Amino acid sequence: MSSIFVTGGAGYIGTHTCLELLQAGHKVFVYDNLSNSSRLGLERVERITNTSIEFIEGDVTDANALTRALQHSQCESVIHFAGLKAVGESVTNPLAYYHNNVVGTLTLLRAMLAVGLKKLVFSSSATVYGEPQLLPIDEAHPLSATNPYGRTKLVAEDMLRDHFRAYPDWNITILRYFNPVGAHESGLIGEDPKDTPNNLMPYIAQVAIGLRDRLNIWGNDYPTADGTGVRDYIHVVDLAIGHVKAIATPTPSQCIELNLGTGRGYSVLEVLRAFELASGKAIPHEFFPRRPGDVAACYASTKQAESILQWRAERNLEDMCVDHWRWQHLNPAGYGSNNDFASKHAT
Ligand code: NAD
Ligand code: UDP
Repeated sequence: MSSIFVTGGAGYIGTHTCLELLQAGHKVFVYDNLSNSSRLGLERVERITNTSIEFIEGDVTDANALTRALQHSQCESVIHFAGLKAVGESVTNPLAYYHNNVVGTLTLLRAMLAVGLKKLVFSSSATVYGEPQLLPIDEAHPLSATNPYGRTKLVAEDMLRDHFRAYPDWNITILRYFNPVGAHESGLIGEDPKDTPNNLMPYIAQVAIGLRDRLNIWGNDYPTADGTGVRDYIHVVDLAIGHVKAIATPTPSQCIELNLGTGRGYSVLEVLRAFELASGKAIPHEFFPRRPGDVAACYASTKQAESILQWRAERNLEDMCVDHWRWQHLNPAGYGSNNDFASKHAT
């Protein structure tokens, strides 16, 4: 059992990972600027696990504060979730993305060097594969980016690989997530989008709860079985457990990239039907032209993660929809108050 410093630990994937780390007996120290989250998620994790989390509100680009927090925490390893993740916003405000995601990661590496920490798990994304050239996508697939968000992840990955060449006694695991969805089975923590969701499942969930009129399906003329886009959706709890494995597996000094997905793709219409079944709600929808930059199909080869981490995703599409709906249904306004929901709903 060890102590883990979690940047961005108050966010969607961070809260679920903190929960699994605590349940596996680890100690957790969260550092987050709360720019896309609140303390409530972590308070609920503390409630579920009956354990406390040490929290420091701070920014990963603030070298002094971060180094002080790392030193104070006396943690043995770091999971780095902190960053911005909205593709559209990265196009209109690329500098914010380079600052948070690239400068943030650079500042973290320097702070880790300063305090003598050498073990890091980094949140990357399947977006670094660009347009898939073969399926399923394995870790040797060529890398490219189609938007500034993707480029910040690629630059950060390159920086980590260069850093490892200079410091070969480090242990760096780059986790490339496919499409995280769902929520913890308690229904107490989940994804809480601040603006209109861009991603499919949170959007469908907001249609089901009555916050939005209908789902716009971007394209039904793809070369897929039903013409809609296919993605590898992974339950956020499976993803979180992947992080626990990455932290706990004793590996030699290395810098490795691992896909975290299920290895199986589902179309937009398959997800929609599964969510209708899970929620008992009809999801009105309409077809629109393809969204620029979208690919027809994307799913992972998971062999590498299975063999190195002894991990594989256990939860299926039904579990993802049932758990996502439970969270949405119990928390119609996310971590906001139900009064906010009532007023939004009434207008
Ligand atoms: P999230 O926005 O819910 O969580 C990110 C957390 O980081 C938030 O709590 C936010 O307040 C914090 N944060 C942001 N900038 C910070 C900064 N400069 N200093 C300190 N804290 C900061 O997002 P998430 O979905 O939990 O994603 C976590 C990580 O996983 C991100 O790096 C994201 O790019 C990556 N990722 C997410 C997805 C996805 O679909 N959710 C897919 C692939 C990769
Ligand atoms: N999608 C859609 N309507 C939406 C959001 C997404 O039709 O409102 C489709 C999108 O075109 C893609 C799939 O759902 O085929 C998954 O999209 P998401 O943005 O969740 O993931 P990404 O495309 O980034 O992998």
